[in-house]
Amino acid sequence: MTPDDLPVEEQEALVARWQKVCDEVKAASSSTKNTDKAVTLLAVSKTKPTAMIATLARAGQRDFGENYLQEALEKIAEIKQSEVGGAVVWHYIGHIQRNKTRDIAEHFDWVHTIEREIIAKRLQEQRPEHLPALNVLIQVNIDAEDSKSGCQPSELSELIAAIKPYDKLQLRGLMIIPAKEDSDAFTRTNQLFKDMQSQHPDLTQWDTLSMGMSGDMEEAIAAGSTMVRVGTAIFGSRD
Ligand SMILES: *Cc1c(COP(=O)(O)O)cnc(C)c1O
Repeated sequence: MTPDDLPVEEQEALVARWQKVCDEVKAASSSTKNTDKAVTLLAVSKTKPTAMIATLARAGQRDFGENYLQEALEKIAEIKQSEVGGAVVWHYIGHIQRNKTRDIAEHFDWVHTIEREIIAKRLQEQRPEHLPALNVLIQVNIDAEDSKSGCQPSELSELIAAIKPYDKLQLRGLMIIPAKEDSDAFTRTNQLFKDMQSQHPDLTQWDTLSMGMSGDMEEAIAAGSTMVRVGTAIFGSRD
């Protein structure tokens, strides 16, 4: 699949939306106190065609996020064969089913949604020897909603301690999907992120806070996000 599969006007419109989001992320990060950390823009391409990914990769976008495993595997295989294949970094941001960990361990560079030790253990065992450690984030249920995914904040330190020894996983930080009405979830998560670094001084690459989407990326960056996951604002609305 190549960018040529998209009509030129669509390619131009897509790149223009992406460029606008890049500018907004830059502006938001330069107006916060967290200027020591560059904010990474993760383009969330779920349900969108591979040609759109190829177009953005050619324009310079590096990180892409996918939620649905089967769809993602097909797109990754297609992109790997294209001329931009080597430049793309793949992030799995969907819910992890226990019997699907092998595909994640073999095909992704990052996973944002670790919430239980058993999943981490399986990824550790299934990460192929020839690949570098899988970058992992722990998803935190910051609003303590029963219905939502994520590790409870009170159980986080224990989960970190369990994952730390795994040499095929590199623990990088935290991820949240806050409830809409929870306006200070970002700030609380940043505090939790800092607390975990002081409780676990041996975490050597604890540098990533994945929070903020199309509708709230500026607030998230102001509260310390280092990675925003943006779908709609770049790709347009999903069906
Ligand atoms: C779909 C999705 C996004 C992107 O959401 P938009 O509102 O389209 O920017 C971000 N994070 C996760 C976990 C998602 O599932």
